[in-house]
Formats: sequence, structure tokens, C-alpha cells
Amino acid sequence: MKSSAGIGRRSFFARTGALAAVAGSLEQLSAAQKRRGARPNNIIFMVSDGMNPSVLTLAEHFSRITRQKGTVWHELYHRPEAARGLMDTASLNSLVTDSSASSSAWGSGSRIWNGMVNMLPDGTELTPIATVAKQQKKRMGLVTTASATHATPAGFAAVVKSRADEPGIARQYSRNVDVVMGGGAAYFEPGKRRDGQDVPADYAKAEFAVVRNKQEMLAARKSHKILGIFFDGQMPYTVDHRNDERLQLEVPTLAEMTEVALESLSQSREGFLLQVEGARIDHAAHNNDAAALLWDQLAFDDAILTVLRFAEKNPDTLIVITSDHGNSNPALSSMSSKYGGTEACFERLALARRSFELMTPLLGSKAEYTMAIESNSPAAKTAAEKIRQVVEDSLGFTPSDAHVDLIRRSLAGQSGVALNYQLDKPVGVMGLVAGHHNGIQWVSTSHTSDYTLVTAIGPGSDRFQGIVRNTNCFRHMCDFMGSNFRNPEMDPEKAKQVMRAMRLPEPHFHWV
Ligand SMILES: [Zn+2]
Repeated sequence: MKSSAGIGRRSFFARTGALAAVAGSLEQLSAAQKRRGARPNNIIFMVSDGMNPSVLTLAEHFSRITRQKGTVWHELYHRPEAARGLMDTASLNSLVTDSSASSSAWGSGSRIWNGMVNMLPDGTELTPIATVAKQQKKRMGLVTTASATHATPAGFAAVVKSRADEPGIARQYSRNVDVVMGGGAAYFEPGKRRDGQDVPADYAKAEFAVVRNKQEMLAARKSHKILGIFFDGQMPYTVDHRNDERLQLEVPTLAEMTEVALESLSQSREGFLLQVEGARIDHAAHNNDAAALLWDQLAFDDAILTVLRFAEKNPDTLIVITSDHGNSNPALSSMSSKYGGTEACFERLALARRSFELMTPLLGSKAEYTMAIESNSPAAKTAAEKIRQVVEDSLGFTPSDAHVDLIRRSLAGQSGVALNYQLDKPVGVMGLVAGHHNGIQWVSTSHTSDYTLVTAIGPGSDRFQGIVRNTNCFRHMCDFMGSNFRNPEMDPEKAKQVMRAMRLPEPHFHWV
């Protein structure tokens, strides 16, 4: 068999190595999917949240620079066994979707308004895919690097009017999910919830093993049900995790959580549905933080490898890998008149040791810069020096005086520092400055309407070829689980009428 690159399989694997560990799995998956009417027993739905299609290329280059090998997802594009398509991610009220509407479209088969979770604008509750899975005796898992109650996992299992109701979502999973892992202790723990309710105790009563760090998680890997909550809010960015020994000891990676979830869920012969979300790719894109984005994309790629290894032993497994929407559309742009020198700039990304999320607080308070900006005083010089040092220490390049001044003005709250109004804030300006050194440019700090990538392998993967409407994923998953259940749908005009009749303002949140 030849790969599309025209290289025999053996030499292909020898050249790249990214799939060498799972070569057998691809052959078995290929054989399994070709059986007549093949239907998977297990479905693993992987979401690189907010991953613009351009990130596939950037992650491939970044992986080769930092790990001397390519990515698994990129390599799947060479494989004739894998189905390839584009995901149409629109929501009921916008071409630009948010995570809750996008995941709810996969999880209910209905397009809904941005900001809601498995609910039509008139309050009609939809049945999420996790409930269908339970009815079909399948086991259900949610693994994420966001809070476990964040929009993407919630879209498969919860029903709430607003995605912001994370305390409410935390209480819902115990009825239709068997394995829940991620951050979000703030929404589970009695000392942190406003209502003081001990949600983990409720899960323990429902026979969940409750784990709060990596060691406890590994010890509970044989448990039938697991609630793993490893961080207060979102889990740390990979770039911060890999530079902090304490985090590495205590907080599991996405691949490690995925491995334990698979071990737990696969104890039943009835099969399972598992959603795996690399959530912080989206958050890094909102922050225009290229290094944080790419390290998290590589962590997501490690989880793909974990899943392929599982499929090697369990060829009745369908793997779908996709994203819920684009975000800020990062791209490596030419860094000279004849495009030369661009790679040298891109390589500087590997020098970053800290996410913008951790770097920004080190820069100090707005008041510090408001004072400093008004004069040429020693305070202004101290403020500028602090910015230069923190940026140098965090990102591995030295900003020019002009760039330090732009950052200083933005931190002071001045508007007009960047003419693109979305970029006109400290992280946007930081992204622009960093772009002068690493070559990555951004169009915004928000979601975009682009079709996203979808790659599928295993029995049933042929349904994910071509343009895939997000809602059809629910139908395919129901079919695979032997259910013909369908939720009600609402067309966009009817949705607008309902909202007007109810005199409800259109939801307006800061989407993350
Ligand atoms: Zn999203």
C-alpha cells in the first residue's frame, strides 16, 4: 500500500515515526470499517476547541522544532484509511458559533442560540446524547482541560438555559455520565460553591470514585465511575504545566486523563461514548498567545495517540477528531520581502516559557502604568524596564523601546494603541508585539465562521467525509448506538419570532 505521499508504509513510518506505535491499529481499524454495515461499539469524539484549520500546519512545524517528529493528526492526512472532511459549525443565530451551541448541535442534533446548552430559544429542553447513550446501555465519559462543567462537555450531557450556570451543570452529570474529568473545583466543592452544596459527596453516593490529583486518578483507574476534578478553574496551559514540576506531579495531562477514562469505560462490553476536549487551544487563541496555543495543540495530539493505541486493541472503535469553531485565525506570515527568514522567526516560539495568562499578572496593575505613562519620570523608566524583563523572561525575546511603550499604554487602559478594536487590549497588543518576533499574525480575539477540520477513522468513519453539518453528528452517533431518537428543531426565523415574542434580549456574553 502506498501513502498519498507516494512512499511505502514502512519507509513512511520510518521517516516520521508519529504513527509508528499504532501502525497495526490503522490496519485493523481499516479492516473493521470495511465490514458491511460496520457499526462501532465505542465512539471517541475528540474536540480541539477553537482550533482554526491553520493550526494543523503550525502545530506540525512546531512539533518538528520542539519534538523532532510530526503530529499524529497531520499524519492521518496521509492515510487512505482515514475519512476527511470539513465541519459546518454554525449555530441557530449566527454563522459564528460559541462552544455551547456548537457542542449542543453535536450533542442534540439541533442548532440552538449561542450561550444556551441543549435548549431551544422557547425553553424546550432537548435530550442530550449522554442520555441516549444511557438508554442504549452505553457508558459515557467527558474529559476536558477546561472546567468539567464548561460548554463543550456540557453540550453532550447537560441541559441549562445559560452556559454560565456551571454550578447547575456540575449537579447534572451524575445521572448520565460515568467518567467526568477536568478542572472546575469552584463549581463542585462545598467550600467554593455559593450554595455550599457538597457535589462530590453526591457523586460518591452514586458510586463514583472522587479523585483530586494525578496520583489519586491513577489509583482509581479500575473504578467503574470516576469524578476527577484537578484544578479550581480551567486546567493549566501546557506551556505552564511543562515548566512547573509541582503541576506535573499533581495535575494530569489530557492524554493521561484520556488513558484512565478509556480504562474505566472499556470495562463494559456494551461499549461507550467518550468526548475528549483540548479546551485551552481556544483560550490561547482568545489571548492571541501562539506558544500557549501550540503547546496545547501538541498535548491534544498526544491524546489522539493514546486513543489510537486503544483502538489498536479495540478495532470496533470509531474515532472522530474535529473542532467546534475557528478562533482568531492565527497564521505564520512572511517576515521579509522575499519570504526568507520566516522559519527562524517561528522557531523563537519554542523559547516561550510562560502563557500570557501567567505573564500578564507579573506585569503589575493598571494603576502602576496609568501613573507611569503621564510622565518621563523614574517611575516610567522602571515600568518600562519591568515590561522588558517580564516579556524577555516569559517569551524569550527582547521587545524594542517602541513595543514596550505600546504594551505600557495598553496596560494603562489607553484605547487606539491597536487600530483593530478587538486587538486593542493588553493581550492583543502583546500578540502583535510577539508577532514581530515569531511571525504569527491574528485577525481578532474572537471566534470565526470558518469550517473546521474533521478526520475520522474506524467503523462508521465514512459518514464524516466531505462537508459535515454539525447536527448530523448526533444522528450518526444515535444510529451507531442503535437509537432512532430525534430531538425537535427550530428554524432560524421561528427562533427570532420566539425571542421577539418573549421580549428577550439576545444573549450577550463574552464567549470563551
Ligand atoms: Zn469552543
